[in-house]
This record gives sequence, C-alpha cells and structure tokens, in this order.
Amino acid sequence: MFSDAHLHLNPVKGLGAERVGEKLAREGFWFAGLVGLPPYHYGLDKPTLESFEKAINILASQARALRDKGIKVKTMAGFHPAEVDEYNKMGLTIREVYDLAERVLKLIESKIREGVIDGIGEVGRQHYGTSYARISVAESIMIRALELARDLDVVVHLHLDQSGWPTCHLLSKITELVGVKRKLVLVHHASKHTAQPCVEYGLPISVPVKQEIPEIIRLPGLILVESDYIDDNERPGVSSYPWEIARVFTRLVKTGVIEEGVAGRVLVDNIVEYYGVEPP
Ligand SMILES: [Zn+2]
Ligand SMILES: [Zn+2]
Repeated sequence: MFSDAHLHLNPVKGLGAERVGEKLAREGFWFAGLVGLPPYHYGLDKPTLESFEKAINILASQARALRDKGIKVKTMAGFHPAEVDEYNKMGLTIREVYDLAERVLKLIESKIREGVIDGIGEVGRQHYGTSYARISVAESIMIRALELARDLDVVVHLHLDQSGWPTCHLLSKITELVGVKRKLVLVHHASKHTAQPCVEYGLPISVPVKQEIPEIIRLPGLILVESDYIDDNERPGVSSYPWEIARVFTRLVKTGVIEEGVAGRVLVDNIVEYYGVEPP
C-alpha cells in the first residue's frame, strides 16, 4: 500500500492523471496528495485571477481522474514562491504581485468552502537567491496562507529554503504567532538537514523519495514521503516519478533495511493522520 504525499500532475504539458493514475493503481497506490501548478505550467500565461480559476479547475478534474482509478486524493492550491519572481519579471510591480496573491488566496478560500479543493499549497519562501523584496512578498503570502489554514482548519504545504534549524525555528515562531495548528503545516521536500529540527518542533515533514529515506523516516514525527513529480514532458527526469516510491520502499523492506511496520506507518498511518482521510 503506497502513497505519494505531494505531487503535481499536468494534463497539458505532461502525462496527466489518466496515465499516471493507471500506473499508480497498478502499482498499489492508495493515496495521492495532489498539488496545483502555477497557471503558466498549464499554458495559462496571463497572471490574472481567471488563469488561477482555470488552473484550479484543472486541478479538480485531475483529482477526479485519479479517484476514478480508485485512488484517494486530497487537493491543494496555492501561490508558489517562484511565481512571485515570475510575475515580477513579467512586469507586475512587487505590490501588484502581492495584491494578486491576496485575491488568489480569497479564491482558494471560496473553492475550499465550496468543497472543490481541500487545502493550500504550495506557498513559502524561495530556495534560491532572489531579491529581498521578492522574499518578503513570498513570506507575506505564506503568512496570509497560514492564517487561512488556521481559519478553515485545512492543511497547508510549505515550500521553504531547507536551511536546517533556522528554517524550522522561524516557521515554528510564525505558526505560534499566527495560531495555526502545527500538525496542519507540512514542510514539503524536507532535506535530511531540515527534517530533524522540524520534527523536534513538532512540524510535519514530507521527504522526497530520492533522499536518505531510511534515516529520516525513523525520526519520531509526522513524516510523509513524496515524489514532488512535476509532470513536464519537456523536462523529463527533473523530478522523481511517483512510482519510484513503490520501488524504493519495496527494495528497502525486502533487503531488511526498514521493517514493514515502519513503511506502513509512513505510507498509511501518517497519511491518515495528516490528511484526515479514511485508511485504505
Ligand atoms: Zn515545492
Ligand atoms: Zn511541489
């Protein structure tokens, strides 16, 4: 029984949910945490609210396609920190970028209230060098998103810089100030270096399958595993494929590196706990 806590699917530029879902069902996946992509990944190049609404509709229809294959799905939509840079480069002022993000978060709020999507993601901070202005705006958007997660009691996936303890310490402080339950706040794509302190602060983490899985999943926390599959035919191999989760875990259990119980806790129990889904 396998799961992927955080992946993206793109029916416009990639394989899409039809094909990926078929393969996942065949490989024994029971759950997928499906995260929306920035609109321009779907060919929606104008940074407008309409593009975001269309992108959310694509996300919801991709989730339906996965569910048709018998996979449980939770969907998250957000405003990726890379979008801050992208729209600013496209000509929006930094203030306009923030205003757009606020409107997008309002849209996300109404889509969650309508039951079209389930949570928020990704929001956060750039993991590469950029301007202070862009980082500040990305962080302001993240704080708004955390407030929304608090008010709606929904999960939120954070894309952060993976700087180890400082990343987790700052996030821990922010969650306290905002008053959001930390069990909702997932640090996605957590590196080994960042995983340990986040777990110490009681923050859930999702570990990319290409990382040192055996070491990290033994930590005593709410730990999930993800492919962060980007599903872009023009950039094959830039991310892991979701089915690599099945291969890696099968190998680790077979060779005795991890016990079956540890795999079950990460791939089933922790998903049930984090996402509040019924177990398979
Ligand atoms: Zn990310
Ligand atoms: Zn992602």
